[in-house]
Amino acid sequence: MEEENNPPIIIECPHCHVQVIPMANNICPSCREDINNKQNVNSRQVVLMVHESEELPPYCYSCSAPTDRYVRISADEESGLETLIFGEKSPESTSNVIVYLPECELCSDSEIELIEVDYENQTMKIMVDIRFEEKVLQFRAS
Ligand SMILES: [Zn+2]
Ligand SMILES: [Zn+2]
Repeated sequence: MEEENNPPIIIECPHCHVQVIPMANNICPSCREDINNKQNVNSRQVVLMVHESEELPPYCYSCSAPTDRYVRISADEESGLETLIFGEKSPESTSNVIVYLPECELCSDSEIELIEVDYENQTMKIMVDIRFEEKVLQFRAS
């Protein structure tokens, strides 16, 4: 017999990496992919949270090869909305999040996959190579 009154399970979709409650047939409501079908998923990619102006180790985020090339990525909050909520906008407040991400020459053609931006905490979630994540965690711990 099937349980009908289980609480909804929130999982991270392996395709779009959004926290979702799967629909019937395990379809992701965000990207409409089959959550159980992980065949097209690159398992070497993970989501890494990076703080604004955090120093990152000199390895490519995408292939983890040593590099001293950094690319600037920035995300801007819609300023209209902010003005509505907070009234006058102070010139000191930065509503955008800027991160310098190491990226080697070879990977410069591939697009950086930004998952989520948290303007309040000034963080970004970016898809990175799992080996790069390891290096970042080591770097942070040292
Ligand atoms: Zn999805
Ligand atoms: Zn690379």
